[in-house]
Amino acid sequence: MGCVMGSKNLKAVAARGTMDIKIAHPYEALEHNKKFIDQITSAKVNQTMGTLGTPFIWGATNSWGGIRTRNFQYNQCEYADEIEPESLDEIATETIGPYHMTGCFACQVHCRAQYKIPSGPYAGTYDEGPEYTSLGAFCGEPDTPRAETLLTANHLVNQYGVDNLEIGSLISWAMELYELGIITQKQTEGLDLRFGNDEAVIEMIHRIVNRKGWLGDVLAEGGIRAAEKIGKNAFDCLVQVKGMNNLNSDERATPALALNVATASRGSDHLRSRPAIDLYHLPEEVLRKIYSSPVPYGGPLSSEHTAYEGKPWQVFWHENCYMGVDCLGICKYHTTFLGATLPNFEDWTRVIYYNTGLEFTAQELWEIAERCNMIERLFNLREGLKRDDLKKGDMLCHRYFDEPCNRGAPDVIGTAIDREKFKKMIDEFYEHKGLDEDGNPRPETLKRLGLENEPSHLL
Ligand code: SF4
Repeated sequence: MGCVMGSKNLKAVAARGTMDIKIAHPYEALEHNKKFIDQITSAKVNQTMGTLGTPFIWGATNSWGGIRTRNFQYNQCEYADEIEPESLDEIATETIGPYHMTGCFACQVHCRAQYKIPSGPYAGTYDEGPEYTSLGAFCGEPDTPRAETLLTANHLVNQYGVDNLEIGSLISWAMELYELGIITQKQTEGLDLRFGNDEAVIEMIHRIVNRKGWLGDVLAEGGIRAAEKIGKNAFDCLVQVKGMNNLNSDERATPALALNVATASRGSDHLRSRPAIDLYHLPEEVLRKIYSSPVPYGGPLSSEHTAYEGKPWQVFWHENCYMGVDCLGICKYHTTFLGATLPNFEDWTRVIYYNTGLEFTAQELWEIAERCNMIERLFNLREGLKRDDLKKGDMLCHRYFDEPCNRGAPDVIGTAIDREKFKKMIDEFYEHKGLDEDGNPRPETLKRLGLENEPSHLL
């Protein structure tokens, strides 16, 4: 959508209302909203986020071995203490810290830090974040775990309005190609594009955004088209699904998360269906309670994050959960994304009713979410989605399957995604979604969702 707007020179769409918003049941809404907010802010995960921001998971994920580094050649960033939120707190001036967090309009969680760049050419410049994703994009993958690089790169992508994950991943991919000799020093115009070079990360952000030089211009095309232009076996090193990169986390030890990134409609995307609570080892009865509502589920569930059983339902459930909140304008951190006690379908029905007067059952909300996800599926099918297609399909790049994790905790080292088990997970996931084995919706599914006349799959 951003590209479409950019091609039309459209910077923003602003709406200014002049009338009050009518609340259907104002007193009940107020009472219920208090409880809703309390449910959100009392969750320990949100209290931690409100103090340290999303990078609070960096240290644990990294020491466990779940951070992609050097363009997915490794799964742990060494010497990464300098970019822990507590360390940033100390060096990025007094505007960062527990009492200086900020957030989106009217949110009580305020998960975003404020900072000033401590040193270098941008010293003293104010910005917000960095989000956890920037740590992976500008420190983990390029192997530059230093605060100045992180905060400067984060500032630049905020200013330029480009995606941190995508640009960080493109730079790291180019670094691997440079080290392999696939990209030459002539093509980088003298820039030393080896891993660990902080200046190269910053310089490449400028070059890509401004399409400067041969390499900047090529990478600005995005990974798939850039791979075609670079040639040789550049595509083999590209980490993407449906042309989009992921949050630089390593899902080889977590099949549920791998299934999420493979099947997400927007590409390798952690925001469509990631069952992040899978890592908590919650008791099975807790999982059963979450995943059996609002529609009954009696199939397998596993508290073990390395298991393959029961994970397709979890991913399907989260896909509908996240679509539900996307439809409602509720943040994913206010759902079971990161905390098992956070609101879900049942709670949303009351929020909708008290505020708008519209009555929905939790099952109806689930079905709406399913319908929206199916429309996205139809769109992708129209654009050429084929189940195993490496560029457009529900398929992971070969590193997930062929190169086991080489660092981290004992339950991570040596793990890779098992192709056969992964195939079975996709089969089961398609079954839950009402798709055939090729990933196309069955006629009865389209009818059930009221999409039987939806033409986009026929175009
Ligand atoms: S709405 Fe979500 S992203 Fe925004 S500050 Fe609140 S918790 Fe963070």
